[in-house]
Amino acid sequence: MAPILQVRDLVKTYRVGDHVVRALRGADMDVQAGEFVAITGPSGSGKSTLMHILGCLDRPTSGQYILDGQDVSRMSKDDLAIVRNRKIGFVFQGFNLLSRTTALDNVELPLLYNNTLKLKTSERHARALEALKSVGLGERADHFPNQLSGGQQQRVAIARALVTRPTILLADEPTGNLDTRTSIEVMDIFQTLNKERGITILLITHEMDIAEYGTRFVRFRDGKIQTDSPVLHRRDAKKELAALPPPEPDEATPATVADPVAAEHGGVGA
Ligand code: ADP
Repeated sequence: MAPILQVRDLVKTYRVGDHVVRALRGADMDVQAGEFVAITGPSGSGKSTLMHILGCLDRPTSGQYILDGQDVSRMSKDDLAIVRNRKIGFVFQGFNLLSRTTALDNVELPLLYNNTLKLKTSERHARALEALKSVGLGERADHFPNQLSGGQQQRVAIARALVTRPTILLADEPTGNLDTRTSIEVMDIFQTLNKERGITILLITHEMDIAEYGTRFVRFRDGKIQTDSPVLHRRDAKKELAALPPPEPDEATPATVADPVAAEHGGVGA
């Protein structure tokens, strides 16, 4: 089968005043559907630049990027946005949730801005709730971000990435703000989505132990791929979680105190 992502001699240069920054200097990579690729490398090696191009947020200066059989390297910004909305979900380090908006409404947002899906309000609600349930947060749909722990907020962000049913999930340092246990919980969700739903995952991380949850390991250096190899001893997040002692009560339960913002908004759908 043709790879879901094909990158050929990808170059990205930025001009900063008289200066030219060569962020990508000829990257080549094929990714098959169903892979879970961990991308690592030192700061400034071009990982985020690659992720922006793979996510159709930016275009390469030269080289080719074929996504699911379609050459997107030279597409207009509007066409890129359509491809992005159809095929790609994003998860970031900082969650990027709207603070005065419930978990359910946060998850629903990509559907509101998606002109190609054209769903009815009830369908949008149902899809958002289904996505929240798939990350174990169906019971917290009417919570606001500040009523949720960091790990729960990241799970809402993952649900938001899933709600458009993307074929590829791009995650940029998704565990960067999380403690060890919560990081493993997030990696458990990624591994489950990858194994059970076959979602292709590309994950940027500078933490080697997080990279080991993937199936393949790509290391960047100076805007190029330095090494590209299978993960030989893959970590299993579910098994690791089962072996951990139970979490402290205040880690497991989010703040449930009455929240003035929640009261002001009147809960879901207000
Ligand atoms: P990484 O994600 O590995 O830290 P980046 O892709 O963010 O690397 O950056 C690669 C290089 O490109 C760095 O030297 C960075 O300063 C530069 N760079 C990234 N984005 C821009 C931009 N928008 N304008 C100018 N230089 C940039």
